[in-house]
Amino acid sequence: MLAKSSPQAPFAQSVLKWYDQFGRKHLPWQRNKTLYGVWLSEVMLQQTQVVTVIPYFERFIKTFPNVTELANASLDEVLHLWTGLGYYARARNLHKAAQKVRDEFNGIFPTSFEQVWALPGVGRSTAGAILSSVLNQPYPILDGNVKRVLARYFSVEGWPGEKKVENRLWHLTEEVTPTQYVSDFNQGMMDIGAMICTRTKPKCDLCPLKKGCLAYKNESWALFPGKKPKKMLPERETYFLILSKNGKVWLEQRENSGLWGGLFCFPQFESREDLLTYLSNEGISYYQSWPSFRHTFSHFHLDIYPIYAEQDNIQIEQENRDWRKVMEKPTEYKPSLSSAVKYWYDPRNPEQIGLAQPVKNLLMQFVRNHYG
Ligand code: SF4
Repeated sequence: MLAKSSPQAPFAQSVLKWYDQFGRKHLPWQRNKTLYGVWLSEVMLQQTQVVTVIPYFERFIKTFPNVTELANASLDEVLHLWTGLGYYARARNLHKAAQKVRDEFNGIFPTSFEQVWALPGVGRSTAGAILSSVLNQPYPILDGNVKRVLARYFSVEGWPGEKKVENRLWHLTEEVTPTQYVSDFNQGMMDIGAMICTRTKPKCDLCPLKKGCLAYKNESWALFPGKKPKKMLPERETYFLILSKNGKVWLEQRENSGLWGGLFCFPQFESREDLLTYLSNEGISYYQSWPSFRHTFSHFHLDIYPIYAEQDNIQIEQENRDWRKVMEKPTEYKPSLSSAVKYWYDPRNPEQIGLAQPVKNLLMQFVRNHYG
């Protein structure tokens, strides 16, 4: 949990010496450091770069100069100031945490690691960063920059999102973080990660750690940190019926839950046979197969086979090779949607409705084909 190294150990010494010379010391939250200001900056810096954060930080501190003022503000005010910074759960947690500090600590930001870690939106690394930065408490950190430096320096294999790789990196950061000058060391590590050991093209020649760095020695920095393993996703298929009449297209609203819940889609069928059966029963004799494509969701691939037909144009010449004849006249069909809202959608005069992305793309293709 705590830092273990001596500040004289080669790793710590190299980082501290480099930080003295080149590290960032004049960021807005480094002037007149307070626990409140550093906490604010650390939350804003999660997944966001320093240059983006600076103006937001300055506006926040001006509007809410202390944690109680932030706690007393409405969530709308906080979200409004956060607009554009993204990951809005951070702003909601910030507001909740400020209220916790106001209500449980009389508005005084806590100084114990466990209490800071327990605040909404504060992880182990953020808690360590706050307390080491302001109070020099000997807590190591492990943000994205530090992970990258350590993974390369020690050639740690595997994706840091995996628990066992992350645990190994926590162990290493505890080993190299000195028990004194922790504030400078941690800031130095973040700065080396952001300025020298960058994701692509690290500037190893300028790096204070190159002497002991295994990735530098083996010219293998590109392999570390390991990438997120690609999941083998299951594959499914569906048949879209793009049915047109008088330049309009038939759409149906999906049920509110599940895939594309509440969005408008073409009628979907489980197989080509089902779809052709449906056409046949509707008295539609010809269809076109449009190129199939794949749409990937987080948990499966969906191969989509669009089939186009016209309800008002059943006398298409057979020799037109784009068109195929719907063969036999089977007796049943299974449209996969049972939806209350269905209608002829006019793509040239569209209503404000939710469309699934593949449907949107196919409607654009329909407009190109139809209207040029
Ligand atoms: S030597 Fe290169 S790869 Fe190693 S820590 Fe420094 S910048 Fe990163």
